[in-house]
Amino acid sequence: MTKWVYSFGAGHNEGRADMRNLLGGKGANLAEMASIDLPVPPGFTITTELCTAYYDNGRKYPGDLDAQVTAALTLVEEAVGLRFGDRDHPLLVSVRSGARVSMPGMMDTVLNLGLNDETVLGLSKASGDPRFAWDSYRRFIQMYGSVVLGVDHHRFEEIIESAKIDAGVTEDTALSPEHWQQVVAEYKEMVHSDLGKPFPQDPGEQLWGAIGAVFGSWMNPRANTYRRLHDIPASWGTAVNVQAMVFGNMGADCATGVCFTRDPSTGEDIFYGEFLVNAQGEDVVAGIRTPQPLSKLRAKPGEVSMEEALPAVYEDLVRVRTTLETHYKDMQDIEFTVQQQKLYMLQTRSGKRTAAASLRIAVEMAESGLIDRKEAVRRVNPASLDQLLHPTLDPKATRKLISKGLPASPGAASGIVVFNSDEAEMRAAKGEPVILVRVETSPEDIHGMHAARGIVTTRGGMTSHAAVVARGMGRPCVSGAGGISVDYGAQTMPCGGQVVRAGDTITLDGATGEVFLGSVAMVEPALSGDFATLMTWADGLRRMKVRTNAETPLDAETARKFGAEGIGLCRTEHMFFDPARIGVVRQMIMAQDERGRRVALAKLLPFQRDDFRDLFRIMAGLPCTIRLLDPPLHEFLPHHEAELADVAAGLGEDLDVIRRRADELKEANPMLGHRGCRLGISYPEIYEMQARAIFEGAIAATEDGGAAPVPEIMIPLIATKRELEITRAQVDKVAAEVFKETGRTIEYSVGTMIELPRAALTADKIAENADFFSFGTNDLTQTAFGLSRDDAGKFLPQYVEQGILPKDPFVSIDIEGVGALVRIAAEKGRATKNGLKMGICGEHGGDPASIAFCEEVGLDYVSCSPYRVPVARLAAAQAALGASGDKTA
Ligand code: PEP
Ligand code: MG
Repeated sequence: MTKWVYSFGAGHNEGRADMRNLLGGKGANLAEMASIDLPVPPGFTITTELCTAYYDNGRKYPGDLDAQVTAALTLVEEAVGLRFGDRDHPLLVSVRSGARVSMPGMMDTVLNLGLNDETVLGLSKASGDPRFAWDSYRRFIQMYGSVVLGVDHHRFEEIIESAKIDAGVTEDTALSPEHWQQVVAEYKEMVHSDLGKPFPQDPGEQLWGAIGAVFGSWMNPRANTYRRLHDIPASWGTAVNVQAMVFGNMGADCATGVCFTRDPSTGEDIFYGEFLVNAQGEDVVAGIRTPQPLSKLRAKPGEVSMEEALPAVYEDLVRVRTTLETHYKDMQDIEFTVQQQKLYMLQTRSGKRTAAASLRIAVEMAESGLIDRKEAVRRVNPASLDQLLHPTLDPKATRKLISKGLPASPGAASGIVVFNSDEAEMRAAKGEPVILVRVETSPEDIHGMHAARGIVTTRGGMTSHAAVVARGMGRPCVSGAGGISVDYGAQTMPCGGQVVRAGDTITLDGATGEVFLGSVAMVEPALSGDFATLMTWADGLRRMKVRTNAETPLDAETARKFGAEGIGLCRTEHMFFDPARIGVVRQMIMAQDERGRRVALAKLLPFQRDDFRDLFRIMAGLPCTIRLLDPPLHEFLPHHEAELADVAAGLGEDLDVIRRRADELKEANPMLGHRGCRLGISYPEIYEMQARAIFEGAIAATEDGGAAPVPEIMIPLIATKRELEITRAQVDKVAAEVFKETGRTIEYSVGTMIELPRAALTADKIAENADFFSFGTNDLTQTAFGLSRDDAGKFLPQYVEQGILPKDPFVSIDIEGVGALVRIAAEKGRATKNGLKMGICGEHGGDPASIAFCEEVGLDYVSCSPYRVPVARLAAAQAALGASGDKTA
């Protein structure tokens, strides 16, 4: 028999925190909390395996599930002394989803389940509070109606709105028990007429309906989108948690809240959270009422903190905070309910946090001895560092404040105002910077939030959907900007005495909660403090070096600042696009013969020499891999008449001749055409010029006492051993010439890119002529898959969406196929030359999963774009630790 159901609470703890794959995060942690004697209402978890079985069997449950659920429910009844469906003392339960990793707001929840026309009377009598009983019943019909039965939630809200108008009140809380009773009657009528059948009265039917809805929600479109954005496989499934209800909505001595054991925005070690008196959990998350702070310290004028309103319970909660952090050794995100002055824990999980908070928490926990340094390095998600490497508002810049809300997720962003998520996605796809402005966001807005540079909501707190999701995505967000009133119909947002329209530019600062009109100047980040500390720890733990792909002094300097240990790829062709040079480059490729090319190359030589000298100086003494000309020549061809005329004049040729030559140079398949070492073989003078510029530049770089650079000259697109033999001989010949002319010698090496499958498969032969290999995984992916780098964007996203490929192989290396070629090449290369130096310089060099693969293959270094250098340093350390990183940051 398979065990599908695990009990927790009241002495029946069958789960543990480390069973999250089976029980989901919520279920595993409820059991764990109960086992360390925290007050957890009893309940049970139906496993993720059941979810998988349910989908595998055409959405049918296995036969033995029913009996296991009944037995677990009986344990809950015994523990709380109530019976499910009992007309006098009814047990009510919540039914919630809980996947392995948290997917905030992505799946469905039903509260107060077990209420019907009879049990509501029992609840009313037992609690002595008819208002509470009827309010709970209407909440149940509303949630069950929309989540399980699929009734539009606006329909329910309309009924409440008209009840308030009839009663002459503005707040839900001012409605009397009789009003709620009337609302319940209208709800039931509306559901009946919408669905053609009455609202289910049988608690058993209700329970199975809710369980089915949670499992069903695993495959709903918003859950699918969330999984795609966060790399969560559909096969993981969700668990379902059924738990005895506790009530935060029984009066002024009741409350519900969400808190973090440290500040999730900054990481500061303070207790941080929000609560609502007389409310149920979903009220806080939905951002319907504005919650109040937990601690007195955080309360603004007019706010009443929990510390003041419920001091004894607050003390209990503070103790729980310490217990949980010490137990889990990580910052926790906690949900709790207070029923008549008694605290209950409903959830704990590792809290989502910004990159800055993630760093600070990891460093401070290591410094206080709660975790060790290795663990601190493991804790920070390398990809999240991206958030820290981007600009913030220039403190000196002028600005016009239009509203101030909550600093929900840090970072600054400027963009045009867009009020709906579909439009945000559409305009962002066209390259427009977008700020999504909403009254509040819901899971339906995920794609718009992802597309936006920043998010502003006019309602909701620090734990509202917008705030939680934005922090997870690393988008700057201001929530609860009450000074702005959004008019979706008119596409305007009146604020601070003026009207901002859709399409106008605004700027937001997610670290302060401020929103400004127009764009505000930004400044580069300072990488000190916790960042520097963690990076130093990471550097001490990694084996692979981290270099950068750079060809301009600015990029090289940025990369050095970020800790690059040399250049892994200088794409020399990028140096040719400068307006001062492109004309000469065109003359070179359009020249009729070698003599014509040499004239043009002589003009390029001084430019290239200075380029290399500058790079070598910046990289003082570090290895620099300079790749000789690689791209298909068509990339340099003149496009317009005027450009053709310029080339003709420069070469002293007839315009028609040049036009014809341009036509001849066009290729049907340039990526597989006359490029890479094939150019160096057809036109040796090109590689000769470049080699000369490198050696002369290297010598020049040392002239004013600078450290001697270590040029590594790299030949692109090698497919055969002979190609490398020929091109290498050219380079060696030039080196000898320059050394003789100048009377100076410098150390250098000559190696090759491995970026064609044939090169990988014959790497043992190629290694005979190579001092190093650098894996060009962009071209290797292109050629291994037969997939054009320039055209894949049209269909690859669909491949990923349909699961044909797990990830975009140009972003994260395809370990199975392209990775196999890398492995073969590495092994064959080493078989010929033990200790042959190897690195990677394709885009994958900055991708944490690919970096882990490089560690496994034993590469010596990774090379990536300057802004990814810190990401790579941390990922390389985690790779060395054998860590996979985590998804919490
Ligand atoms: C590669 O192919 O991986 C590479 C680094 O070279 P490029 O992107 O310039 O073709
Ligand atoms: Mg390439």
